[in-house]
Amino acid sequence: MTKSAIVTGSTSGIGLGIANSLAAAGYNIMLNGFGDAAEIEKVRSGMAAEYGIKTAYSPADISKPDDIKKMVADTIEAFGSVDVLINNAGIQFTALVEDFPDEKWNAILAINLSGAFHGIKAVLPHMKKQGWGRIVNIASAHGLVASAQKVAYVAAKHGIVGMTKVVALENANTGVTCNAICPGWVLTPLVQKQIEDRAAKNGTTVEAEKTALLSEKQPMHKFSTPEHLGALAVFLCSDNGQTMTGVALPMDGGWVAQ
Ligand code: NAD
Repeated sequence: MTKSAIVTGSTSGIGLGIANSLAAAGYNIMLNGFGDAAEIEKVRSGMAAEYGIKTAYSPADISKPDDIKKMVADTIEAFGSVDVLINNAGIQFTALVEDFPDEKWNAILAINLSGAFHGIKAVLPHMKKQGWGRIVNIASAHGLVASAQKVAYVAAKHGIVGMTKVVALENANTGVTCNAICPGWVLTPLVQKQIEDRAAKNGTTVEAEKTALLSEKQPMHKFSTPEHLGALAVFLCSDNGQTMTGVALPMDGGWVAQ
């Protein structure tokens, strides 16, 4: 039977890249995320037509546990199983700890960390029952090292790396693997906004800030792409990835090698 994947936050950026890569590899895809309804429908129908797979869309808000449960139930109803869960939805906000708004802390923890927990909790009974499953958490280089002004994001991403290890240990002999991918800079809307904010603050250009952003953190002055990350996710989901579990894999231009 065709395997099915849920990719949270797949209306944009890395999630969309991973959804496309999994679709190209033959998985049915449950898309999720916010955005313009007509645009999302275009992506959904386009993906199904291009790759000859089934697609559906869940409007689940990943900060809401009940929405996540419904998304998982809807996936099983639409495709007959849930074999892969990619926890990718995420947001960012930057400020010093003492200035960090409580509501931003709560939102980042809810989406970037608790959302993954609730998704994993909902898919595990199905994956264990069928004796096969792949869970991939999109963490970050910030799951392994810190940067100033990103307290909630760094806490959530370190948390997701820890959660990845627990899920891996508990499922070592169930046929379910759980791994994290830790991207460095990827030029998505989430990063574009940080670059534009820096240019406005520093009175410089977007191009200059792109170079500055890369060279501050990454020995390699080059963005990873959603397609690169998609290929890694496809590998982790393959049968050749069956003994890789509990790892946090950087794809970061050398960021955490320092
Ligand atoms: P993006 O802003 O392009 O996409 C984020 C996606 O998450 C969108 O589809 C958005 O609709 C969805 N989303 C946001 N809040 C949601 C919610 N409450 N419920 C459901 N969906 C929601 O961002 P991106 O750069 O593609 O980031 C994707 C993931 O990759 C995030 O977890 C991010 O932390 C991580 N990441 C990104 C980078 C980077 O450089 N871009 C680096 C490391 C890690």
